[in-house]
Amino acid sequence: MTAEIVKGTEVAAAMKEEISLEMERLKEETGGGVPGLAIILVGDNPVSKINVNNIEKTAQELEFNPEVCRLPPETTEEELIQLIENFNHNKGIHGIVVQLPLPYHIDDKVILEAVLPEKDVEGLHSINKGRMLISFTPFLPCTPYACLKILEYINFDIEGKRGVVVGRSNNVGKPIAMQLLQKNVTVTICHSHTVNPAEVCRKADFLVVAVGRPELVKKDWVKPGGVVIDVGVNKVGEKVIGDVDFEEVSRVASYITPVPGGLGPVTTYTLMLNTLHSFKVVNDLA
Ligand code: NAP
Repeated sequence: MTAEIVKGTEVAAAMKEEISLEMERLKEETGGGVPGLAIILVGDNPVSKINVNNIEKTAQELEFNPEVCRLPPETTEEELIQLIENFNHNKGIHGIVVQLPLPYHIDDKVILEAVLPEKDVEGLHSINKGRMLISFTPFLPCTPYACLKILEYINFDIEGKRGVVVGRSNNVGKPIAMQLLQKNVTVTICHSHTVNPAEVCRKADFLVVAVGRPELVKKDWVKPGGVVIDVGVNKVGEKVIGDVDFEEVSRVASYITPVPGGLGPVTTYTLMLNTLHSFKVVNDLA
C-alpha cells in the first residue's frame, strides 16, 4: 500500500475560500470592520520566526488587520505582560497570539494566563482548556481543530473509531485527545512511560503524533491502512522533519500528513477561523 499524502496547502485553500466569503459578508454588515490579530514573537528562534511570518502573511491575504510585535530575546516577563494587557484593552484587537517557545527566563504559563480568555484565539488559556473539557468553549485549540479539519477533508469518519494520540503535553497532546473524545473517538494516549508504544499504536484506526522526536514512529507502529497525522516539527540540520518516519510509514498507512506542508498550514487557518469568530462575537454577529 502507498499512502495518500494529505497536503495541508489543499486543506488550507478550501478554508481560505470559506473565510474570504465570510469576510465579504461581514465587511458589509459592519461597514468595513475587520478582525484585528496581535502576534507576539520574543527572540530569534528560526522556526518561530517562520511561523510568525506565515501567520502575518495569511492574515494580510484574508484582509484581517495583523499587528506583529517582534521583541528582542532580553524582553522581560513584566514587559511582555504589559504588552499583552495593552492588546487586551485594545478594541481593534480580537485575537492575541504569543508564539511559543518563549526564552527560558519567561514563564510561558504566566504569559498564556495573561491573555484575556475572550481573545485567546489559540485556546491555550486555562479557562478555555477547562471549558473545552465540558464542551463549552469559544475557541477550539488550533492544533486539535486542524487535526479535525484534516480528518474531515479526507472524509474519515472518526465516530466510534480507535484513535491513539502520542504525546500528552498540556498545550498539544492532551487538548487533541480531549477533542477527539468529544467527537466520540475511543481514545488512548501514549507518553514517555508507555510500555511498548508500538503495540498500542498498531491497534489504532488513526494516529496523531505530537512528541517532538524526529521520526520516532516507524512502520511497525502503524496498522496497515491506518491514518497518520504528524504534528511534530523538528529542525534537524537544515531540514524540518516530523515525528513520523514518513518514507517507511507511507508504505503501510492509507493517509499521511507530511512535514513540512501537512498540519502547519491548516493550523494557521484554524487560528484565522477563531479570530474571525471572536470578531463576530464582539460585533454580535456570531
Ligand atoms: P512537549 O511539551 O515536549 O511534549 C512532548 C510529549 O511527548 C510529552 O507528553 C512526552 O511524554 C511525550 N514523549 C516524549 N518522548 C516520547 C516517546 N519516546 N514515546 C511517547 N511519548 C513521548 O512537546 P509539545 O509542545 O507537545 O509539541 C510536540 C511536537 O508538536 C513538537 O515537535 C512541536 O514542535 C509540535 N507542534 C506542532 C504544532 C502544529 O501546529 N503543527 C503546534 C504545536 C506543537 P511525557 O509527558 O511522559 O514526558
